[in-house]
Amino acid sequence: MKSIIFIAPPAAGKGTQANMLCEKYQIPHISTGDLLRREALVESERGNYIKKQMNSGALVKDDIILELLEERLVQRDCNNGYILDGFPRNIEQAIAYESILKKINKELGIVIFLEIDKESACQRMQGRVICPVCGCVYNTIIDGAKPKQNGICDHCENRLVKRADDDVKTFAIRYDAYLEKTQPLIEYYENKNVLYRIQSGMNKNETLKAISFLLNGRSEL
Ligand code: AMP
Repeated sequence: MKSIIFIAPPAAGKGTQANMLCEKYQIPHISTGDLLRREALVESERGNYIKKQMNSGALVKDDIILELLEERLVQRDCNNGYILDGFPRNIEQAIAYESILKKINKELGIVIFLEIDKESACQRMQGRVICPVCGCVYNTIIDGAKPKQNGICDHCENRLVKRADDDVKTFAIRYDAYLEKTQPLIEYYENKNVLYRIQSGMNKNETLKAISFLLNGRSEL
């Protein structure tokens, strides 16, 4: 299995799809947002900086992201591929990632662009709740994405919370950061012939089916 990069606007459902695919293909789900949320809990100048950036909807500095990511990619469970969720967020990160890949002797893999319009993404964001312990994502307004028991994680039974950056105002800032910094990656990866577009619908199983169809149809993956 080759590695998969998910590119999408905020709240497009990439965390949910990445989780389901990782379970299906038994490869790790690497979310830079989750790595940062963990790092933000450390009482330090760096932890406080990360928390401030995330809560305001702005991106975190590239050097911190690249350090956390490289540390994660050299772990043994990444040997058979992995899913990157939330990285790269800009062209500079994409270029630095290719240097890391060269250094650790891994291939780029494929890039899935999960398409969704701004209004639907904003709606999804308003229903999103996450497990702060295992990172599972649920949605209280989407059938099939609700937890079995209201407010409790299906997997580890911890209490679900709303993300600190999931409010309408911060969403608008994150969406603008996406348009300005992340969207240019679509053309960047299109030029490398590794980009595939998938429509993110309200039904997560239908979206998963479309991605699985794409992956199954490509024997080299
Ligand atoms: P996410 O969980 O992917 O929605 O990311 C939540 C927040 O974490 C973003 O709004 C950024 O503040 C930060 N973040 C996550 N991934 C990156 C990245 N690759 N580069 C910079 N900031 C990031």
